Amino acid sequence: MIGWQPKVVSLLLLSFLGLARCKKVKKKVDEPSKDIVEVLDDAKVKASVEVESVPVPLKEFGDTADTTFVRLADYSHDFVYDMRYATTNNFLKEKVYDCAECYVRTKTAKALIVVNQEFMKKGVRIKFFDCYRPNSVQHKMWKILPNPQYVANPVKGSIHNKGGAIDITLVDSTGIELDMGTEFDFFGKKAHHDFMDLPETVLANRKLLKETMEANGFWGIRTEWWHYNLSAGSNDRVADFTWDCPVETE
Ligand SMILES: [Zn+2]
Repeated sequence: MIGWQPKVVSLLLLSFLGLARCKKVKKKVDEPSKDIVEVLDDAKVKASVEVESVPVPLKEFGDTADTTFVRLADYSHDFVYDMRYATTNNFLKEKVYDCAECYVRTKTAKALIVVNQEFMKKGVRIKFFDCYRPNSVQHKMWKILPNPQYVANPVKGSIHNKGGAIDITLVDSTGIELDMGTEFDFFGKKAHHDFMDLPETVLANRKLLKETMEANGFWGIRTEWWHYNLSAGSNDRVADFTWDCPVETE
């Protein structure tokens, strides 16, 4: 009895260890570690992002006339858009565009692409708040706020209605807006180019925007740091070209 007992014990012990080892191996095969699951999920997410972000091929200007209205996003993927008047997030608190699009005349588009390349060399790029504004939209705005201090009278129109003006700011490589001291459409002295009681970084950001725009055929207006006119666009006619909006499927 005494002779075989340790043998049984060691056999039992060996089989237990063997089972434990098997169990360990089995677990490794059947249940992939959390790391593997995460890697797979990451790959899946990456693949879907890549599918969604395949860029639409760009159009070329070819022999398009300088005064033809074009959709800027068809000619460059390098701009950022936040078309405020297509939302209620603007000083009128009303949506005056049916959909968010940035159209300008061809010569304005060409000049914007050139100046944006300049900005991109410095690690920033243009973000739009407003572009060409059809005269019918100007009428809508005037109806909401008939005050020439804030809205151009649609009878005379403005360079926005001519397709030569844009409202812009700059964003960094992560899409964060540079601090310009006030919000877009802040009406007050703080938004004026000659208001200097601002932090150094704000003054430097405004200077970068103004100097680069002015060196590339645009001019600013004293009271709005965000507004720029194409110098070659002042003599064009006020227009009422409008664009088609995607049909809502809901
Ligand atoms: Zn403007």
